[in-house]
Amino acid sequence: MRVGTRVLAVLMLPVAFVRAPGRARHLACQWALRLRYPTENLDGLDPRARKAFEAARTQAFWQDGQLIGLTSGHRDAAEQYRMFMEEVRRSGSWGAARRTVLPPEESSHVRGIAMDVRPTEGAYWLELHGGRYDLYRTYDNEWWHFEYRPETDGRPPVRMPHPGAAPYHSATC
Ligand SMILES: [Zn+2]
Repeated sequence: MRVGTRVLAVLMLPVAFVRAPGRARHLACQWALRLRYPTENLDGLDPRARKAFEAARTQAFWQDGQLIGLTSGHRDAAEQYRMFMEEVRRSGSWGAARRTVLPPEESSHVRGIAMDVRPTEGAYWLELHGGRYDLYRTYDNEWWHFEYRPETDGRPPVRMPHPGAAPYHSATC
């Protein structure tokens, strides 16, 4: 699959070159990944977060042959609320639910700066190299969850054990 996606991207390079001469590799990479992960949706992400994510996965793809797909990016408040309430029902309490899913007012997915990625190897690549793009893993218990955090000036933000670990209202996640 990985090799197939790379071959596809190489095949699409000439078309990408016609569309955007200076950004052909970037464009061909996004097209190939869209075909590999047809359900991914980058809409609604903060434009700077989206740009950072696309740049990071372009580097991963061409330099290291690593695919990075988006499982979940921006969610609207209603969807996040539904997911949170489902987790409240499943876990039995509001407090327990917050360790896995945050309510909309605290969720970085609702703010458009969070990206859940796949596969595991792609997430590992992003954990190693994402800092160059201000993308950081922010929770010990979620290897897939990354956030765009340019405000930390190139330093990784403090990693929390799980969502909801920061006190309510001071949470940055
Ligand atoms: Zn997430």
